[in-house]
Amino acid sequence: MYYSSGNYEAFAHPRKPEGVDEKSAYIVGSGLAALSAACFLVRDGQMKGEHIHILEKEPIPGGACDGYKYENVGYVMRGGREMDNHFECMWDLFRSIPSIETEGVSVLDEYYWLNKADPNYSLCRATVNRGKDAHTDGKFSISDKGAMEIMKLFFTPNEELQDKRITDVFDEEVLDSNFWLYWRTMFAFENWHSALEMKLYIQRFIHHIGGLPDFKALRFTRYNQYESMILPMVKYLEGYGVQFHYGVKVVNVAFDCTPQKKQATRIDILRDGKEDAITLTENDLVFITNGGCVENSTIGSQNEPAAFNTQIKAGGGWDMWRKIAAQDPSFGHPDKFCHNPEQSNWMSATVTTLDQRIVPYIKNICKRDPFSGKVVTGGIVSVKDSSWLLSWTINRQPQFRDQPKDQLVVWVYGLFSDKPGDFVKKPMRDCTGKEICMEWLYHIGVPEDEIEDMAENSANTVPCMMPFITAFFMPRAYGDRPDVVPEGAVNFAFLGQFAETKRDTIFTTEYSIRTGMEAVYTLLNIDRGVPEVWGSVYDLRDLLNATVQLRDGKKLTDMELGFKERLALKEVLKKIQGTDIEKLLKEYHVI
Ligand SMILES: Cc1cc2nc3c(=O)[nH]c(=O)nc-3n(C[C@H](O)[C@H](O)[C@H](O)COP(=O)(O)OP(=O)(O)OC[C@H]3O[C@@H](n4cnc5c(N)ncnc54)[C@H](O)[C@@H]3O)c2cc1C
Repeated sequence: MYYSSGNYEAFAHPRKPEGVDEKSAYIVGSGLAALSAACFLVRDGQMKGEHIHILEKEPIPGGACDGYKYENVGYVMRGGREMDNHFECMWDLFRSIPSIETEGVSVLDEYYWLNKADPNYSLCRATVNRGKDAHTDGKFSISDKGAMEIMKLFFTPNEELQDKRITDVFDEEVLDSNFWLYWRTMFAFENWHSALEMKLYIQRFIHHIGGLPDFKALRFTRYNQYESMILPMVKYLEGYGVQFHYGVKVVNVAFDCTPQKKQATRIDILRDGKEDAITLTENDLVFITNGGCVENSTIGSQNEPAAFNTQIKAGGGWDMWRKIAAQDPSFGHPDKFCHNPEQSNWMSATVTTLDQRIVPYIKNICKRDPFSGKVVTGGIVSVKDSSWLLSWTINRQPQFRDQPKDQLVVWVYGLFSDKPGDFVKKPMRDCTGKEICMEWLYHIGVPEDEIEDMAENSANTVPCMMPFITAFFMPRAYGDRPDVVPEGAVNFAFLGQFAETKRDTIFTTEYSIRTGMEAVYTLLNIDRGVPEVWGSVYDLRDLLNATVQLRDGKKLTDMELGFKERLALKEVLKKIQGTDIEKLLKEYHVI
């Protein structure tokens, strides 16, 4: 496997890998990573579909990418995915997946046309004092000292950030700024999370810094991602005869490991409560989604809280990884990620409005008609003074293909599930759907005496608790995640958010898809480049632009500098006078 960039490799089709007709694949999980691996196996590996087996413990595919209407409970989306135009592996794949909405069109084209015609941007990024615009006004409001802390992190070698927390590298100059409000609510970082991941994120999305305050950097699918991404992939794979096995729990994968060679030899499964095993030869490839951000996630209902269940059990992603990790030091350290659900949980809730009473309060904030079918909030609206640190979003409606035209589906989430609310004086994790809705209504400005009635009769709310949702953000060191294909592995790979691949950032659809692509390309030795992570961090233009944007447009020459630094800057400016460097710095408003 090698990386490439540019369109020469992007448009080429690889030759059929040698010996692929004799090979089979067993894929643990049916999340984005697993489905992508299957898609790359059939498209680029040209493996026969009927040789590919997807083993999924749940009754439906998709893993974290969900969006269903549960009988007698209501619509639920555990999350909504903000996405990027530089999800290189993702778009490499989705150009080949037919849309299920429009005949003859790929999922990529569908998405591209939609976001071209109706670009995303927010008209109110944050509120305060019960629904008033917090007037962050597109500003990061970061001090020069704060900007220097970010710059320092940007240039700190990864090796020095092992096991470090964000609070080890940032102080209140960053943590009290709008920058941090935008950042932590958008990406769900907590102050105690990994400084290394924070750095990787800044580098990965440096080209988007200017688009963060109003979300013009983002793009969204037409419907929830289960319907707009997972279902088309499943249909594509079924068309090739790929075998889906639901309700199959993989308890363990056994390996034969020597210093020279590592081979998966057996998959232990539980099917209908009965133990079984699949024996593997070197021609049977195994792709393992280890760990899992939505493991143990639970839903409540309008009148019931979602249980906070942290017990790790056999047949789940964490226990399976523990059993695998015990067999070889290169298979990672799952407990670095799953040991403290208090630091890795947060909650979301899906609110469905049932009549028109809540709508004016929404309109008042998002300043758009939520029933127009177009962008509504344009990304999350964060409630700056919420004890739960609530954010909420309304994506293009309907979000579900069968959603009634007069209802809105709203996604609400809170980063602090253990803190008492401001109106409902209970922690979010103890609240029913109705109570979470009440807290949200309070923060969007509904009069207090109408809140309970509206939450009860004008909405249906389903809470969702995810104990491990940010497990991948826990402080970590190299070696805690296994490489996608560990050294010496001949017939297996790790997939998803807890497999290690260079430069990309977790908690993204792209990361999962990339691991699927890299795993397949490595194990089948596919002779075509895997698109490298978008190289903006090496692009001087993006770096200059980000530097100025982060400081709300202020030039380098406006920075508060000491006497010595000012002199040095003057010297440098003199030296570059009349050169292309000076021209570039002027073009990007650095000087
Ligand atoms: C709330 C939320 C918000 C998000 N927001 C964004 C966003 O804004 N932008 C973005 O790009 N991404 C976002 N993501 C991330 C993205 O959705 C995920 O990273 C991606 O879907 C994960 O896919 P995966 O295949 O790696 O893992 P998963 O989806 O977790 O799939 C793992 C699968 O393996 C199965 N499995 C696990 N163990 C076993 C076993 N032992 N036996 C059998 N089956 C097993 C699971 O049931 C599951 O189906 C968000 C995710 C969530 C949950």
